[in-house]
Amino acid sequence: MPPTILDGKQLAKTIRKELAVEVADFVKNKNCTPTLAAVLVGSDPASEVYVRNKRRDCEKVGIQSNLHELPAETTQEELLALIDQLNQDADVHGILVQLPLPSQISTEPVLEAISPAKDVDAFHPENVGRLVQGRPLFHPCTPQGVVELLRRNAIPTSGQNVVIIGRSDIVGKPLSIMLAQKGADATVTLCHSRTSDLPAVARQADILIVAIGRANFVTADMVKPGATVIDVGINRTEAGLVGDVDFEAVSEVAGAITPVPGGVGPLTRVMLLVNTLAAARRLES
Ligand code: NAD
Repeated sequence: MPPTILDGKQLAKTIRKELAVEVADFVKNKNCTPTLAAVLVGSDPASEVYVRNKRRDCEKVGIQSNLHELPAETTQEELLALIDQLNQDADVHGILVQLPLPSQISTEPVLEAISPAKDVDAFHPENVGRLVQGRPLFHPCTPQGVVELLRRNAIPTSGQNVVIIGRSDIVGKPLSIMLAQKGADATVTLCHSRTSDLPAVARQADILIVAIGRANFVTADMVKPGATVIDVGINRTEAGLVGDVDFEAVSEVAGAITPVPGGVGPLTRVMLLVNTLAAARRLES
């Protein structure tokens, strides 16, 4: 039987519609518009596209987005001064600094300078700590996109074996914490490049989530028949954009699978909007 295709594009559209109503209510009740400040340093073409898409998403749901474009030679001090100004600005509810930053700027101090209350990417150590303790202000966008994709497709996590491949700070690590948390109640195994006999571990998964950045890495023999497979990877190849999962082959065994593109990516984008509205609600309450 062919697997269920977990359509992130369609789901993102549904969530945006819901959000547009919530944003309109907020504007009416608070007499102010949720506002995201997007900071782009330099002119990396991929970053420009990401920021443009994020701003277009904001527009679709009625969130105001202000773009702050800084030249590639911006210094650390200049960027920190702008973040300080945005932290103080009562009209700004969310701050997003598009990564990567030019090499003369260290990323960590920049992310740490963003006020945790406006940290809609949820990268600030305070927000990471809150997430670990189960009392987050915001959920990081890609992990929350995965959680929402599972929840809205009625794929239960409680008591399930979840195997995550990839332990990055923005995807695998926070996602492992979120799915092991009370409420999600999964039994989580977090794998990485030193995991021994990865295929055997992956085959234990009721839900297999892959975020490593290696085209077609997960093959059919690594997947338990009927398992749900969530592919976070985005790899640019000669054949176009592909995920970390060999979609064709794994579709023969999986019970449900995300496409790439059109799976987790659109949900990552929509979660930024969710977080911006959440930030505005908190700051304007
Ligand atoms: P990263 O590049 O920071 O880290 C990669 C992780 O994969 C590391 O933990 C490493 O241990 C692990 N890994 C690498 N090779 C491995 C192997 N052979 N076996 C097991 N583990 C291995 O990762 P990232 O920033 O989380 O990105 C991962 C992928 O997800 C990339 O393709 C990225 O483009 C994509 N991504 C997609 C979205 C989205 O919205 N869909 C968001 C973020 C990242």
